[in-house]
Amino acid sequence: MYQTRTLHIGTLTLGGDAPVRIQSMTNTDTMDTFATVEQCKRLADEGCEIVRITAQGVKEAENLANIKSSLIQQGYTIPLVADIHFQPKAAEIAAAIVEKIRINPGNYIPVGAKKFSPLQIIEKISPLLDICKTHKTVIRVGVNHGSLSERITMKFGNTPQGMVESAMEFVRIIHDLNFDNLVLSMKASHVKTMVDATRLLVSRLQAEGFDYPIHLGVTEAGDGEDGRIKSAIGIGSLLLDGIGNTIRISLTEKPENEISVAKAILQSCGNRVFTAEYIACPSCGRTQYDIESVLQEVKRRTKHLKGLKIAVMGCIVNGPGEMADADYGYVGAGPGKVVIYKGKKIVRKDVDAEVAVDALMDVITNDPSPKSIE
Ligand code: SF4
Repeated sequence: MYQTRTLHIGTLTLGGDAPVRIQSMTNTDTMDTFATVEQCKRLADEGCEIVRITAQGVKEAENLANIKSSLIQQGYTIPLVADIHFQPKAAEIAAAIVEKIRINPGNYIPVGAKKFSPLQIIEKISPLLDICKTHKTVIRVGVNHGSLSERITMKFGNTPQGMVESAMEFVRIIHDLNFDNLVLSMKASHVKTMVDATRLLVSRLQAEGFDYPIHLGVTEAGDGEDGRIKSAIGIGSLLLDGIGNTIRISLTEKPENEISVAKAILQSCGNRVFTAEYIACPSCGRTQYDIESVLQEVKRRTKHLKGLKIAVMGCIVNGPGEMADADYGYVGAGPGKVVIYKGKKIVRKDVDAEVAVDALMDVITNDPSPKSIE
């Protein structure tokens, strides 16, 4: 478990005891204020808690002011993050407008530099830190596996160690300049590299007494099942280690699709609870009802019952034993018959399969001691 400090991104807390935050990134043109605002609103409505917007140049950074004020006028206070790649000037403008900026350490080191020069970095980063201190803007130092400097790759190769080194030399300088409003990330499209680099980063941070929150993400994860599986493995592995304070699922799909995946990963890893949870067996020759359609119907009717565990099991032989700690259970009991469980106790016997989901709902809604229903 990596215990971090708490940061404030506008009114949102990040790190410390705050829930692991869900973030996404717009894919609209930042100069298209209307489209970007509408996408931010859709993301917030889906449950996104932080939205990142690219600010590749000065004019895009300036337009963040229009985006922000339009969102506020419409009642959306979701914190914004400006994604800066090459222009330190864009970072300085954005840092006075939005709650957080993301910078790549490589952009503060002269191109082609063969030697590490802290003085050059201090000169380049100091104006930005002053603005961030004034506006309480958070900085994410985001290292990408694909954009390590030649100096780093010459020394460490294109490795997790190189990624960590690239972040640490930067972090030490920023800390020495009395700035600790920092989040760090190690991103790679290769899942194992991302996991190894993040674990190594955390061990180095702890060894040097730092406690900065960590942002997790697998870059260029792709779309569909591939993207979801890569993100779940990379982000999930680290969450299970107790590492990670905010996550972004990168899908080659509309960003709104990323939010339900983020929620599912966080719930599966035990970090947050958004919906009811389901335990269902894969079914086998013992199953004597259409378990797939029953499970769909049960999910449709109970998804909002946040905090409950509901089991749908194929047979009475193994089902009750395997549904473990479910709060309620729907268990097949022979041709056309179902039994309903509350915890480990049968509360309805010999129920006709046609009305069994209704019976389950009846048991849940009339439970005199519901565990947690919102
Ligand atoms: S619970 Fe019963 S029906 Fe489901 S897989 Fe196990 S043995 Fe088969």
